Amino acid sequence: MYKIEDINFMVSLFCPGKCVNCNIWQYDKNEIRKDELDIEVFKKLFKSKYLKETNYFDLTAGESQLSPRYSEVVKIIAKNKPDVFIHTNISGWYPKKHFEVTKECLKYIKKENFRLDISLDGSKESYEKVRLVKNGYEKVQETIRLLKPLGINLRVTMIVYKNNYQDIPWLVNFAKKNGIGYFIGYARNASLLSNKDNKYNYTNKELENIEALLEDVNWLDERRRPNWLWAKSIYQDKIPYFDCFMGQRSIVIDPYGNVFPCNDCLDFLNMGNLKEFDGNLDELLNSKKALAVIEKVKNKKCQPCSMLCAHKIEFPWGKQVGLQ
Ligand code: SF4
Ligand code: SF4
Repeated sequence: MYKIEDINFMVSLFCPGKCVNCNIWQYDKNEIRKDELDIEVFKKLFKSKYLKETNYFDLTAGESQLSPRYSEVVKIIAKNKPDVFIHTNISGWYPKKHFEVTKECLKYIKKENFRLDISLDGSKESYEKVRLVKNGYEKVQETIRLLKPLGINLRVTMIVYKNNYQDIPWLVNFAKKNGIGYFIGYARNASLLSNKDNKYNYTNKELENIEALLEDVNWLDERRRPNWLWAKSIYQDKIPYFDCFMGQRSIVIDPYGNVFPCNDCLDFLNMGNLKEFDGNLDELLNSKKALAVIEKVKNKKCQPCSMLCAHKIEFPWGKQVGLQ
């Protein structure tokens, strides 16, 4: 039943930043780091037969590169999976730190297999409406300047909101001018981001405008269109039921060792805690609790769902990128 192709490991929820559309920064900075998963337990994961074909790790949460565990985690993964691809989102607000941590990681992983996405969200004017750290925009530019010569897979990212979508072409031009990649995602509500009260209400005209801009920059190819159609269905309050393979083909491990099918980390989808299984992932996944979660997912008990970053999904209109 399980064939885990990728893992999202939330290294740490610690984030000293400040953003409008995500409230992770509001968690208590000391409490949030207590009881994080022991790195020795993390190491044991790689004995799992279900991870034989795993080749993609997403290292996320708050500002994960600030965690003293980050480069150690990269080292352990790369040692066990020499051809792995590792991805991390960063704010770009700590240029020196991002540079040093990345240089350390490149001792263990090939530069082509290490991707950092820097949140940019548009021009300086738009940026400053959503990212509230002082001189954040300038710090991002400095981070790009330092990281680019390292030859890693570097992208700037934009989460499309009502107040920045006009900047879609701007982002693409910025990336091209700087010789780096780009990624466009869509705003979502999630318990983990503590932003369930920010509802994203778009008029039909606004949705048409966004779609036209995405088409103009050739973003909506066959692989990416399904994700936009999902976002649009959420904003129009018309989310269809779909087949979801999260949990069977991909898992999320939170900073404390809890395993979930996807990264909203809903209590009723908690498959078990790695600490209780001394890092034995196979035993955890075969437990009654985990199997019951898989049944809930199969029976769509967690739908309608708006976890836009979940990628092992087949919609009525096609497959999400992770299933293609
Ligand atoms: S979006 Fe990132 S940088 Fe901003 S508060 Fe959330 S975790 Fe921190
Ligand atoms: S349907 Fe949604 S909430 Fe349920 S497992 Fe899939 S992505 Fe997660």
